[in-house]
This record gives sequence, C-alpha cells and structure tokens, in this order.
Amino acid sequence: MQNSRDEVSHRAGWRWSSPLHYVDTPDFRCNYDYCRDCHDFARSRNRCVTGAIYNYSAQLSTYKNSKFTDQYNLTEALLFLSHFVGDIHQPLHCGFLGDEGGNTIILHWYRRKSNLHHVWDTLIIETALKKYNMDLSMMIEDIRTSILEDWPSDVPAWESCGVNQTVCPNWYAAESISLACKFVYKNASPGSTLGDDYFFTRMPHVRKRLAQGGVRLAATLNRIFIGGYSLLYHLPDDIFPECSSNTICDRENQSAC
Ligand SMILES: [Zn+2]
Repeated sequence: MQNSRDEVSHRAGWRWSSPLHYVDTPDFRCNYDYCRDCHDFARSRNRCVTGAIYNYSAQLSTYKNSKFTDQYNLTEALLFLSHFVGDIHQPLHCGFLGDEGGNTIILHWYRRKSNLHHVWDTLIIETALKKYNMDLSMMIEDIRTSILEDWPSDVPAWESCGVNQTVCPNWYAAESISLACKFVYKNASPGSTLGDDYFFTRMPHVRKRLAQGGVRLAATLNRIFIGGYSLLYHLPDDIFPECSSNTICDRENQSAC
C-alpha cells in the first residue's frame, strides 16, 4: 500500500496513477537505478515517478504537432508533470521498498501518531507554517527570497539538465534517496517520537528541496515550451533500451538485485 502518498492517488478515477508518484530502492541501498527500480507492482517497466516525468514531458513536447495533440490530453500531462516534479523532490518518494517509502514506519510527530512518509509530505511543513501564522503565501515568499539571496550560485546547476536533455528526473531521484539515507531515516525508527531536534535539523532540507523542485519545474517547462531546441519525442523505452535485459527489483526479490 503505497497509495497513502497523495490525495490524487486515492481518488477512484486516478488509482491507475498511484505507482507513478514514487520510485523505491532496495532496502538500505542508497543509490537509485532506473532499470532496477522503475516499475509498478505488476513489474511493468517505466511505471514510477521518474518514468512518468519522462513520459509526460515527452507528451508535452509534442504540443505543436496535431498528430500527437489529438492523442494526448496535454492539460492532464502538464498537471501530472508539475505534480511529479514536486513528488520526486520529497526524499521519501524515493525511499526503501520494505517500508514503502516510510509509510509503514509508525511513530509520533510531537504528540501526534503518524508515519514517517506523512511527516515528510505534510507535517514538517505544517509545523514550519506556524512561524508564518499558517500563511502559506508568506512561507512561499520566504523560500523565493532564499532562492534569490541564499542560493543564487546554486540555481544554474539546479536548472541545468545535461546536453540535449529536456528533463532529468534520475538526478532528482538519486538526490532524494541520498537525503533519505543521510537525514530522513536517521533517528526515525518505528515507535520513536520526533520533535524539535528532528524538525530544526531537517527543515532546512525541506526548504531547499521545495526551492529546487520549483526552479527545476520552471526550467523544464522553459525547455519544453520556449527552449527553442528541437525536442525529441523520447519515451522511457527509447531513453533506456538497456533496461529490457536488466533485473527488476521489488519487495519479493530484493536479495537477487
Ligand atoms: Zn504525488
């Protein structure tokens, strides 16, 4: 059950999309590998968050070609791409298979019973919002100011995506599992209580991931819509032909991969 991750994946009409919100790695493996990790419960390749980001950005890149625009719902593609670029920056959307990205790690956030995934999806941000009198627009403005004043030298690297690449979700997934290993799972074992120590040391990472997600989404949309370079119609199978001979790793066969 990984579909406690997002509201959209709960809704009946969108259940098909629930594996597209995350990609998990074998337990305690702090690296990410597209061929090994990107699949759904039925072992269908490319059905994970990074595959979905490739897929929807490829769909959007056809926007000038009526042959494809009849085939795709580009509004839906834009909404999904925006959502999934956000998801992949939440470290536990690239967590471990065995604990379902922190969903099965039951613990307390201050006095409230929750799970580690929900702490990172929602509760850290809710706690941070108290500083802004629960005014989300103030928090967004504060992060925007940090992008301009605290991280201006980092922004070009966040925006860049490799030569001729429109979108680079594999980097973001690799960053997420690395953060998950270093900061997210640490001191957050089942039954623990997370409070000020955890909040104040992790909140800076959350702010930075929100900033990176926003900057990268904007850069990706610029490349798709005004980049001016000829966007190739690339679906994941074309980008990763080598995956077909690779071992898929899921909860049942973790020891084999
Ligand atoms: Zn999601």
